[in-house]
Amino acid sequence: MAEIPLHADVAIVGGGPVGAALVHALAGSGIRVALLESRPVMAARDPRALALSQGTRLVLQRLGCWDRLEPRVTPIQTIHVSQSGRIGRALLAAEETGVPALGYTTEYGDLYGALAEGLPAGDASLILGARVTSVRPGLGCGLVEYSLEERPRSLTARFIILADGGKSLPSPDVKIKDYGQHAVICTVRTEAAHHGRAYERFTPSGPIALLPLGEAYALVWTTRNESLETRLAEPDATFLEHLQRAFGDRQGRFVEVGARSAFPLRLVTASGPEQPGLVRVGNAAQTLHPVAGQGFNLGLRDAWWLAQSLMDSPPDAWGGPQFLAGYRQHRRADVSGGIAMTDVLVELFANDIPGLAQARGIALSALDALPPLKSLFARKMMFGAQAW
Ligand SMILES: Cc1cc2nc3c(=O)[nH]c(=O)nc-3n(C[C@H](O)[C@H](O)[C@H](O)COP(=O)(O)OP(=O)(O)OC[C@H]3O[C@@H](n4cnc5c(N)ncnc54)[C@H](O)[C@@H]3O)c2cc1C
Repeated sequence: MAEIPLHADVAIVGGGPVGAALVHALAGSGIRVALLESRPVMAARDPRALALSQGTRLVLQRLGCWDRLEPRVTPIQTIHVSQSGRIGRALLAAEETGVPALGYTTEYGDLYGALAEGLPAGDASLILGARVTSVRPGLGCGLVEYSLEERPRSLTARFIILADGGKSLPSPDVKIKDYGQHAVICTVRTEAAHHGRAYERFTPSGPIALLPLGEAYALVWTTRNESLETRLAEPDATFLEHLQRAFGDRQGRFVEVGARSAFPLRLVTASGPEQPGLVRVGNAAQTLHPVAGQGFNLGLRDAWWLAQSLMDSPPDAWGGPQFLAGYRQHRRADVSGGIAMTDVLVELFANDIPGLAQARGIALSALDALPPLKSLFARKMMFGAQAW
């Protein structure tokens, strides 16, 4: 094993997709990075399929990771947005937007593998099997305590970045909005080939997303907590029958379903005053409902901009009030826009207030009929809420 560093310029806690991307973004800058990841190897078995936006593709290309991932992605050519049992639908198409694809579906493990493969990059040290137990940030010098092979250890760093997904070291001022739902995820096959078409279908109990993945579809079925157990346990044939009823027959019959799993759905945001010497990125900063497929795309932009901020500032400014305010200012529109768009979609489309369904139908039809509006919406999905 390479020597374990006792000091780094920057300590990144959590080598998930966002933490790993940050290491690539800092490669070649001369900044000494220590990445602490609790998994013993940089590989993940995770059933999630992620829709990566066109903007994410461009960032991954710049990080030198896209070529490794490309053979394992399925391009999304069209997205069909509709609501069950009501009029109004919108169809977004890559060719109308002037991009090769509206997005790309991949498995979490494949994305992770593509980001992990080139690590450690540049001046980075990778400390695997390191479970961080506490961080004590400070201006110019912080302390990270962790356990490795059941022995307590620590390292000092000028600047600490939390990319732990938000579960193990949550912000003291975390804001949580529980949607009372889980995402049931699995692969499904349909009678008709997908031809690169994704679906977002809003139903009274929550949205259903179908993302083309290889020859199949990755399904994300938003399910109320009280129905979760049944939906996970029901026989395949019953599950497919219920899915057919909820989704309709736009894609022909659903004929096969893979293993099911579930994720709780919450909007979690780290709020409150910032601690000098520390920044949160990715899910550690904001965990979104997956309805609009924005979580990783947003987190990757966090990582990209934070790396630029670090490279553009002298080390003794990192983590100071001006540095933190500058970074926040840079990210504010994108992050708050992403959070708002996701939350509004969930609330608006799961609501049966009289008249609202008609209003939603009109909005979808207007989106479909007005090319400039459609193009703006597609750009915001691809490049973030600040895009025009
Ligand atoms: C069902 C579902 C569907 C989704 N679909 C999409 C989509 O279509 N598009 C999209 O952009 N996003 C999607 N997302 C969101 C996306 O999965 C997350 O935004 C993304 O995984 C966040 O990456 P991260 O690196 O910030 O956190 P994580 O993926 O949670 O990684 C955190 C890493 O930190 C490590 N870690 C944790 N605690 C410690 C510790 N104490 N010490 C050391 N290491 C630690 C973990 O082992 C892990 O490797 C979806 C999410 C769900 C649940």
